[in-house]
Amino acid sequence: MSTLFLRTLREDPADAEVASHKQLVRAGYIRRAAPGIYTWLPLGLRVLGKVEGIIREEMASIGSQEVHFPALLPREPYEASGRWTEYGDAIFTLQDRKGDDYLLAPTHEEMFTLLVKDLYGSYKDLPLSLYQVQTKYRDEARPRAGLLRGREFIMKDAYSFDVDDAGLDASYAMFREAYIRIFDRLGFDYVIVFAHSGAMGGSKSEEFLAKSEIGEDTYVECRACGYAANVEAVHVPVPEKQAYDDVPAAHVEDTPDTPTIAALVDHLNQAFPREDRPWAAADTLKNVIGNVVYPDGTVEPLAIGIPGDREVDGKRLEATLYPGEFVPFGEEDFARYPMLAKGYIGPGALGESSESKIRYVVDPRIVEGTRWVTGADSTGHHVIDLVAGRDFVADGILEAAEVWPGDPCPNGDGVLTTARGMEMGHIFQIGTKFAEALGLKVLDQFGKLVTVTMGSYGVGVTRAVAAIAENTLDDIGLCWPRNVAPYDVHVVATGKDEAVFTTADRLVAELADAGVEVLYDDRAKVSPGVKFKDAELIGVPTILTVGRGLVEGTVEVRDRRTGERTEVPVTEVVALLASSIRG
Ligand code: ATP
Ligand code: MG
Repeated sequence: MSTLFLRTLREDPADAEVASHKQLVRAGYIRRAAPGIYTWLPLGLRVLGKVEGIIREEMASIGSQEVHFPALLPREPYEASGRWTEYGDAIFTLQDRKGDDYLLAPTHEEMFTLLVKDLYGSYKDLPLSLYQVQTKYRDEARPRAGLLRGREFIMKDAYSFDVDDAGLDASYAMFREAYIRIFDRLGFDYVIVFAHSGAMGGSKSEEFLAKSEIGEDTYVECRACGYAANVEAVHVPVPEKQAYDDVPAAHVEDTPDTPTIAALVDHLNQAFPREDRPWAAADTLKNVIGNVVYPDGTVEPLAIGIPGDREVDGKRLEATLYPGEFVPFGEEDFARYPMLAKGYIGPGALGESSESKIRYVVDPRIVEGTRWVTGADSTGHHVIDLVAGRDFVADGILEAAEVWPGDPCPNGDGVLTTARGMEMGHIFQIGTKFAEALGLKVLDQFGKLVTVTMGSYGVGVTRAVAAIAENTLDDIGLCWPRNVAPYDVHVVATGKDEAVFTTADRLVAELADAGVEVLYDDRAKVSPGVKFKDAELIGVPTILTVGRGLVEGTVEVRDRRTGERTEVPVTEVVALLASSIRG
């Protein structure tokens, strides 16, 4: 440590919100270079190397071969797949001196597809899987939490190539198993959830989420059947159709000053009390209107009907509409649609065959026979007993309402619980989307050209470093699991006694000979207090102190995580540590 390029900090960096970000900077693992862009220091690089090492071993174990693509790529392949525009503002683009367009790749499906097309042409060449550990660039709208959401980050991306669906299923299953081993070895508490396949289309799609309160993803679980899904991918179970023979005809009523659901429900209970029970927000149908803006500039107005007790969930909506983005109507938009009475909009003014021609999609719960109170398309008026299927028909179904704990499981009789997580890995079956767009075909056994089917498998490598830190740290510093720790043992020599340093020097050399990786605090003019604080902050799993005990022939072994301290005879400590660490 007297020569290590390291400066620990006592103060938290001003821009850090989450604990892992603060401690990784304070302990000298990373430094910020620009928003969402980080420099790796020697300690950080060691952890990164361990994480990458585990991933490489598990990729090798399933026969996936490593390649490495450039990050700087020409526009054409991304143009061919449609993603040059689909990515919108999320990609960094640039031009060379000749004025040709380039991008810094956000992910590499196109390049892998073209590489295989370039070199392979027969079913006999498949199955194949390739991967890389490579730097990606995404101009994230909200770079956040240090390495957790960067604009430059490292991803392991792998792709499988098969001649048919059965082959793809087998490749997918193999990667899934490898991912389980990777995340087990990285020491994560994680859950595998069904995911929305988003940008890529495709069928099977699962995410590996590290359980964490600070995670940006919300997932649901059903204790009864084990179903787990990202909220983005939850399909609300469609209720049975209801009989409506005895429902009176829809009637418009005066409901002055009720532009909000709460005000409407109060008014209904006062002016139109029900006999069976009070009115509730769930009896109302709320219509949310906005423009869906696509990356190519197209704009389509859209109205979304959901039960009035729920809000639209931004992430579910985003996932459903991707690559479109939903922008709620502003005053100018309303001005262009005089038939829409803001605060009192109902199905009457909506739908492709209505006067407004605005496409109207509704929550799956709004099935035939359900009765609603909703806007009557005139200020201060609502319509009561409006029956879906009888009085209005929507143009389609859209999943965007919030999912609540206690909601029914789409799979059975259980109910859902919700929790938060961080997406560490994503595996999914892309199918033929890229192979079709870029012409990746092989001859099958009958000499017929078939389009190759692909799977895509990503791990956020730099995100994993931060997430492991986040899941394991404590009040005093980082606390690495042994598999990814920058070193095995942190040797602290304390005091001024010459013998302490000569003994520590010898122990360090013997440990190294035994294959134990040692960080040695050999700084001569630094107080024991500072040395211990640094050791706690840096978070090597075992701290070996050579100091006062030496006169009695002992050194202290401290477990960073549990805090447990043991006095060990100096003559035995190397053998003890070597066997407990190296096995
Ligand atoms: P997110 O939903 O978190 O934005 P994503 O679904 O866009 O991620 P993928 O395209 O599936 O991400 O990328 C594979 C993996 O790369 C993710 O599972 C995640 O671990 C990691 N990753 C994605 N974006 C970032 C980022 N901005 N910073 C760090 N890691 C990232
Ligand atoms: Mg993903």
